[in-house]
Amino acid sequence: MSEKFDVVVVGAGPAGYHAAIRAAQLGFNTLCVDQWLNEKGELQPGGTCLNVGCIPSKALLDASHKYSQAKSGFPALGIQTKGLAIDVAQMQKHKRSVVASLTQGVSGLLKSNGVVVMSGHAKLGAGKLVTVSSDQASPVVVQAEHVILAPGSSPIDIEACRCDDDIVVDSTGALEFEGVPKRLGIIGAGVIGLELGSVWSRLGSEVVLLEAMDSFLPGADTQVAKEALKQFKRQKLDIRLGAKVVDSQKSGTQVVVRYEDSEGTQSETFDRIVVAVGRRPQTADLLASDSGVSLDARGFIEVDEHCQTGAPGVFAVGDAVRGAMLAHKGMEEGLMVAERIKGKKPQVNYDTVPMVIYTHPEIAWVGQTEDGLKQKGIEFNVGVFPMAASGRGMASQETAGLVKVIADSASDRVLGVHMIGAHASELIAEAVIAMEFGASAEDIGLTMFAHPTISEGFHEAALAVSGHAIHIANRKRR
Ligand code: NAD
Repeated sequence: MSEKFDVVVVGAGPAGYHAAIRAAQLGFNTLCVDQWLNEKGELQPGGTCLNVGCIPSKALLDASHKYSQAKSGFPALGIQTKGLAIDVAQMQKHKRSVVASLTQGVSGLLKSNGVVVMSGHAKLGAGKLVTVSSDQASPVVVQAEHVILAPGSSPIDIEACRCDDDIVVDSTGALEFEGVPKRLGIIGAGVIGLELGSVWSRLGSEVVLLEAMDSFLPGADTQVAKEALKQFKRQKLDIRLGAKVVDSQKSGTQVVVRYEDSEGTQSETFDRIVVAVGRRPQTADLLASDSGVSLDARGFIEVDEHCQTGAPGVFAVGDAVRGAMLAHKGMEEGLMVAERIKGKKPQVNYDTVPMVIYTHPEIAWVGQTEDGLKQKGIEFNVGVFPMAASGRGMASQETAGLVKVIADSASDRVLGVHMIGAHASELIAEAVIAMEFGASAEDIGLTMFAHPTISEGFHEAALAVSGHAIHIANRKRR
């Protein structure tokens, strides 16, 4: 007889563990299965985000940013830093301790909420039977009333430059360097390429990013992307657009990469290469042929707007389903599904998913871009506030960037907010809340912001929509 659970969650990454905890909070007998093991062979929850993604990258981004500030920002503030040096091993130790605390924290949360945790690879069959296999024990078959699939994603490997986990690595390997590579090549100038490129460039690597597309950060607002490119060039990140990597060859301890650009075939030699060309859903060997769940041509699990798959009682959330591959999007989907199983009716508002790139300055946005609105024929007004005019920005050496508010020209409702600047990852939450509550630019303009703060940039940008910003020259008035 197989064991029975009300809810079986496959995957203990952000989407899965949120789903499991909420399901248990709602009174369901819940099992969460994951195959991620630590070096002791124990299950380590948290998925990519906690183990080899968001969290460890932020530990290295913060440490390297502090080092770079100490090196180039402190002297102007009258702070002397004689003998400043980096200790990469210590930086990595700090990163590992953060990962260990957080993953243990998730284990504790699952346990304290009464979620049963099982390690192994789960495969869904017909009738919501889940088979869990592992090297340690014989397969276990579990009968689920409801299944929530949250298998996550993994880095895409390209034939032109195969990862060897030595010289050529993926994003996971790029978080593990124990020394600073002299010359670091990064394939792909997307989110991961820019974040990891920033880390190693700040620590002293000569970083070249080879990006196949001619445009830079095509999903971002054009003005923000242009400002970002300017700032990154100033930081000596060598970003080459329209550069498609076609081949690579090992040469001793280095790799020679060939890429094609508008002028023909070029080659560059690097000490290390990071392949950051996107991620793919981790859905191989997840579904038996009779599971009733379908995958699309790219391997994503097909779901509706409520994350329901084609099989009754089976849901899928996170990176393995349509939409942005973002931890917070998966978390909200996980919570929504658990509550819908309970009979509640929450929705995920996919129009207000915030996007953040943790470079310096940070880049963040929510909602629509000017280009997107033009394509839809929607008329809008725009307010922009340059951070160079921020008093707090000046006091704290954070004058790079801008905040842009886009509002519907008829209703003044905020349709999009785009930021590049210090703390944009935190500030964007204000914009998400405003949009979630259907705020107009005037509503934000009528809201009191503490002075002096970086967040005043959002206030001023909202005021600028009607030409009423105080700290910039307004040309248009409405
Ligand atoms: P991405 O899609 O953001 O960028 C990959 C880039 O690689 C693209 O611009 C693409 O044109 C380029 N590319 C592809 N093949 C190439 C080739 N042969 N030569 C040169 N360039 C090539 O993907 P990513 O940066 O790997 O990130 C993966 C996913 O993880 C994304 O969905 C991202 O949103 C998510 N993620 C988010 C965060 C965050 O929210 N801060 C951080 C890390 C990852």
